[in-house]
Amino acid sequence: MDLVSQPRKASSYEIESPVEVVLRTSSNVNNINRNGSSPSPSPSPSRSASSPSPSPSRYENQKRRDWNTFCQYIRNHRPPLSLAMCSGAHVLEFLRYLDQFGKTKVHNQTCPFFGVPNPPAPCPCPLRQAWGSLDALIGRLRAAYEEHGGTPESNPFGARAVRLYLREVRDFQAKARGVSYEKKRKRPKPKIVTSPCASSSASANITL
Ligand SMILES: [Zn+2]
Repeated sequence: MDLVSQPRKASSYEIESPVEVVLRTSSNVNNINRNGSSPSPSPSPSRSASSPSPSPSRYENQKRRDWNTFCQYIRNHRPPLSLAMCSGAHVLEFLRYLDQFGKTKVHNQTCPFFGVPNPPAPCPCPLRQAWGSLDALIGRLRAAYEEHGGTPESNPFGARAVRLYLREVRDFQAKARGVSYEKKRKRPKPKIVTSPCASSSASANITL
């Protein structure tokens, strides 16, 4: 039984599919077989033991999706990366990778709209993940990591570097006043209410 001195949690890291990095580099296929001994997916034992639990909460669903995304990110990582090897630096890498899917405009400091709440024109500044999304994501992944057997001490999502990064993002985005283009209102036309001449011309018609 105890031929393998690995702690149990290490095996449950490899969820669903065996971690096999898709080797695009056909040159060095030599060190692939460290992983070849676990062909079966080995379903997690705790799942659906007794309670029916019809629909997991949205949070749980989101957490599972996030976790799968992260695991997939790891699987595709080059050089190869395992969950046990993950550090806060890898988590930061992951967060920056996610930025390309972001929908929140974050102005550069050199942009004339930096700090402007509602910019009147488009600008080439990048879309990023909003701080709030990243913060919530890290919270879910942090929980998921420990649910999958990781210890709090080794939790890369709780790393100090990650905390500092999130704080930095929050402060910068607050300064830049990023506008989420998801929440765009129906009316794109800016209505100027404060001009005085509009009311005067209207009242000109009503002369008795
Ligand atoms: Zn800009």
